[in-house]
Amino acid sequence: MGCRRCSSPVHRILHGMVGATKAVLGLDRAAPEVAQVRRAICDECPHAIHCRAGGPCWCGRLWDGIRAHRPTCGCSIPLKVRVRHEQCPLGQW
Ligand code: SF4
Repeated sequence: MGCRRCSSPVHRILHGMVGATKAVLGLDRAAPEVAQVRRAICDECPHAIHCRAGGPCWCGRLWDGIRAHRPTCGCSIPLKVRVRHEQCPLGQW
């Protein structure tokens, strides 16, 4: 993933859609233990938005990620952690 702030909103939306598609289809899959560690890190992150059912759901607000005026990406954490080549926008994993 390149410089988030250098890319356009369209590029960021497309990146998110490709990542979500990979996660759903099981492409570029991270090892289960890697996804588990990533999710645990997100669970402790102050930027994560948690689901009502518990656990981290979103890496900040989607709109913030599209506009890139905050460091978070707005991605779905359960999907993002499952894609091997995804990265935390804050470098936490
Ligand atoms: S991906 Fe990074 S910034 Fe986003 S919630 Fe997880 S640890 Fe926090």
